[in-house]
Amino acid sequence: MGHSASSRSSTARGLRHAIVLGGSIAGLLAARVLSDTFDHVTIIERDALARSPESRKGVPQGNHLHALLERGRILAEALLPGLSEDLVALGAARLSGGRDLAWHHSGGWRVQHDSDLTFLSMSRPLLESQVAERVRALPNATILDGLRAVGLCSDERGTITGIRACRPGTHGEEEEIEADLVVDAMGRGSMVPQWLAEIGFEPPRAELVGASVSYASCTFRRADRRLNWRALIISGRPVRRGGLIFPIEGDRWLVTLPGFFDEPMPQEHAGFLAFAGSLAVPDLYDEIRECEPLSEIKRHRFIGSLRRRYERLDRFPEGLIAIGDAVCSFNPVYGQGMTVSAIEAEALGRLLADAQAHGGLASDFSRRWFRAIRPIVDAAWNGVRLEDLRLPELGSQRPLHLRPMQWYLDQVQLATHRSAAVTDQFYRVMNFLDSPSRLFRPRILAEVLFAGSRTSPRGTSLADAPLGPISQTGGAG
Ligand SMILES: Cc1cc2nc3c(=O)[nH]c(=O)nc-3n(C[C@H](O)[C@H](O)[C@H](O)COP(=O)(O)OP(=O)(O)OC[C@H]3O[C@@H](n4cnc5c(N)ncnc54)[C@H](O)[C@@H]3O)c2cc1C
Repeated sequence: MGHSASSRSSTARGLRHAIVLGGSIAGLLAARVLSDTFDHVTIIERDALARSPESRKGVPQGNHLHALLERGRILAEALLPGLSEDLVALGAARLSGGRDLAWHHSGGWRVQHDSDLTFLSMSRPLLESQVAERVRALPNATILDGLRAVGLCSDERGTITGIRACRPGTHGEEEEIEADLVVDAMGRGSMVPQWLAEIGFEPPRAELVGASVSYASCTFRRADRRLNWRALIISGRPVRRGGLIFPIEGDRWLVTLPGFFDEPMPQEHAGFLAFAGSLAVPDLYDEIRECEPLSEIKRHRFIGSLRRRYERLDRFPEGLIAIGDAVCSFNPVYGQGMTVSAIEAEALGRLLADAQAHGGLASDFSRRWFRAIRPIVDAAWNGVRLEDLRLPELGSQRPLHLRPMQWYLDQVQLATHRSAAVTDQFYRVMNFLDSPSRLFRPRILAEVLFAGSRTSPRGTSLADAPLGPISQTGGAG
């Protein structure tokens, strides 16, 4: 393994050894991309990684529903060919985004429609274990698991030269591993801001959008029953509660119930059922009350979206970048984190190819990196702000300029109750397949503003909702 110190010219650092801190989705995808340009890549992960799909301590969110948005799946597939087919072979469900997904939002059912949008539904541990297996198989990548990173090594100019790490049970004995590039993929809890301060750099300013949300999740045996949906979401204001039920491998349902702010969350099965029964429509409850629970109720509290403004720092050491939740962790209800990590990994590939063409990492590589991912993070972050800053609890943070856009998006939501074209376009934007500007093109604008309204009485189950859209023009066109 290329752990030896690298000789660096004054202009470009070598592409010999890269270290990725954190072996979760962002770290694994980054490692895959780094393996194209670096001689060797080492992933350092504090958890012992099981070869089989299992929840693990370092990723507690893994017990809860993880929607892989279609852009994220496409990018992961491009990096790891065959991933999607193998996931399906292992029990992931391939669903039609338009037909199989039933979504009750803002008091109505979005139009179910024919669409070329598909998505894969599986547990997060299955996805991660398959990604990890492929990265482990790369000839020039090594996963060192059960090893905790505890600090950065730097030279007299402040350039990062490697990391310090520690194994449990060694009484704090540290080892140093040298690298030309260190990638922080340690997630939201990353210690890199503190480590930067230790070596004389200012840590990034952190921004919080404090829409806190708690999740309670449970798996159920999936009964062989005919339903008019294969995945179901119940969400949207004014209700402080939601519900999602998605098929996962092992013929199971994964049911996640989100509650905002101080909503009391269920701890046991009876409470879980009662919470499901209190949702805006009965469909989720009607399904799970018949199903056998297969797990305990798992809970997770998320205190708000957190963005570290690395791109605004005047001084940042060479030889270090960050990716994924370490830069920005988003309100999970929008399902963006893994996809943003994949988009960032793709951007890293482009930047590294450029570095390789120019003989190594330029001295401003880190700065270029944070500049390159800024629009990627902005796209998801702005979406979170638009939605979360409607919440009365966060009203004081709500800038006036967001209001016209929020109003328009409210109209889009209502239009998804009656227009297949608007629903499809909305799904494509949500899945990062189209730019949000597509929601303003003339055909969609006309449907949103002038196509009348459709409401159904509160609590109408999908089976009793008016059939079919008013405007049956599927596809975003
Ligand atoms: C409740 C919840 C639900 C979510 N739902 C979705 C969803 O539906 N769709 C979606 O796309 N995203 C979702 N996300 C976000 C998603 O989990 C993350 O965006 C995604 O996992 C990428 O994160 P990451 O790899 O950057 O960090 P993480 O997944 O947090 O992983 C960090 C890794 O670093 C390791 N680590 C930490 N410190 C050290 C150290 N000192 N040394 C070595 N290793 C270390 C950890 O063990 C872990 O493996 C959800 C998040 C939460 C909290």
